[in-house]
Amino acid sequence: MKIDGLEDVLKQLEIEETNYGASDGHEWFGNGAETKSVSPINGQVIAKVKQANKDDYERMVKANREAFKTWREMPAPKRGEIVRQFGLALREKKDALGRLVTIEMGKSLQEGWGEVQEMIDICDYATGLSRMLYGKQTHSERFRHRMYEQWHPLGVVGIISAFNFPVAVWSWNLGIALACGDTCIWKPASHVPLTAIACQKILMRVIKENDLPAGISTLLIGRGSEVGELMLTDKHVNLVSYTGSTKIGRHVAEEVSKRFGKTILELGGNNAVIVTPHAEMELAARAILFGAVGTAGQRCTSTRRVIVEKSRKEELIKTLKDYYGRVTIGNPLDQSNLMGPLVDTGAVDMYLEAIEIVKKQGGKMLWGGEKLDHEGGCYVTPSVAEVRRDLEIVCEETFAPLLYIIEYSGDIQNAIDIQNDVPQGLSSSIFTNDLIESETFLGHTGSDCGIANVNVGTSGAEIGLAFGGEKETGGGRESGSDAWKLYMRRQSNTINWSGKAELAQGIKFD
Ligand code: NAD
Repeated sequence: MKIDGLEDVLKQLEIEETNYGASDGHEWFGNGAETKSVSPINGQVIAKVKQANKDDYERMVKANREAFKTWREMPAPKRGEIVRQFGLALREKKDALGRLVTIEMGKSLQEGWGEVQEMIDICDYATGLSRMLYGKQTHSERFRHRMYEQWHPLGVVGIISAFNFPVAVWSWNLGIALACGDTCIWKPASHVPLTAIACQKILMRVIKENDLPAGISTLLIGRGSEVGELMLTDKHVNLVSYTGSTKIGRHVAEEVSKRFGKTILELGGNNAVIVTPHAEMELAARAILFGAVGTAGQRCTSTRRVIVEKSRKEELIKTLKDYYGRVTIGNPLDQSNLMGPLVDTGAVDMYLEAIEIVKKQGGKMLWGGEKLDHEGGCYVTPSVAEVRRDLEIVCEETFAPLLYIIEYSGDIQNAIDIQNDVPQGLSSSIFTNDLIESETFLGHTGSDCGIANVNVGTSGAEIGLAFGGEKETGGGRESGSDAWKLYMRRQSNTINWSGKAELAQGIKFD
């Protein structure tokens, strides 16, 4: 099978047969080993990349540090104007970039375009934010003293991103960090180097048109254990914003905190939907379907568990079975398909293995879980299993379209307790029309996740609120609300204009 329109997409995004994987924002280079980008749609090599090595890394961070000296002095709204122009450039390339996301990662074209739209949205947001980097002021207990806090640019931000959101996660960090006066270095996941190269090229046009120095935003394609690791131990990288698995996130946290660097950790989830006796079944089932099957179950916010009240269980299973039966699986560029492939053959093996473990631990597979051989790609059928809440595998994140059904009975607090009884704490939702149930879910004894929704699924957040999760999801926050504060250095200032010396707390020292 051929990937339709591939040549055109590559041409529009200036992707060559072999590409350099390192860029300081002005030039391209790459002195590391060559790697291939393989499409999960049909196993075809899309293009090759010359990766970065340690020397390239050093060159890049030097450029980042140098650029920071001028970038931090540029008035914030002028930095916001650069981000605005990047948003405009993305609008021009939305179609092609969305298609490349789909070709390289495998998510449906609707979701590929959606990811680029998210980049555009965050650029708009960050442009406005550049005029709203507010600090607080308060009244001093001392005569003619003024107290206020202000926010200064932080420095170099290292962005390490996961394969499943090849472009959006970078832009969430980049847009906000640039508005805040930081410079950025990006290490994307090894599965998706070409989308990263395409993004950097779009940004470089804006950098060139505005005569900005190299080092505002640099790109570093290479293995996590090599070039990614360098960022963790480098004291010149002031903040490491890491998106990926909890296993590697733990290592990132340890290494960066050893040098008292800052981190934003966006790690694995194990997200649940609670379906109560007062749920609208159609609404719930649609949200569960998108949550579990969208992006082939490879979102950090994918729905992994459904906790359903005993009396609604059979009805839910029946409705879901009907919906699952209508899921079309195949080439994600074809918009009649709802589900594309998993990211690679390793992911397919991991999925099939997880299903065997579910069975071994006593779970009952209800449907799905087959490998599909068509089109030479990494296609599977999505699966549903009925399980006990405490199976070991149910407490882990299986990054694939495997959904668990768990029954609860009695009070809503029982369902919430089941939901919270896993190590992760990213996204959660309840389907109910009962006020007491939804308020209990959102209250102090309710969901312990960073995201808690009512009559909205676990997956598909907007950029306006801070995004992130608790517990083993890492506690980081990105995107909207006041997440920008993590990208800045806070300073508390007291100014004495009384002409007299006066100590706080009334202390006399004469
Ligand atoms: P991963 O942990 O395998 O890799 C993530 C990134 O870390 C990649 O860029 C990788 O190259 C890099 N890396 C690997 N070893 C490293 C090291 N020693 N030092 C520095 N960097 C290193 O994750 P993945 O398979 O790409 O993505 C899937 C995971 O990401 C899932 O667990 C998913 O839940 C999580 N995720 C979380 C969020 C969130 O916002 N919470 C968003 C997307 C994905």
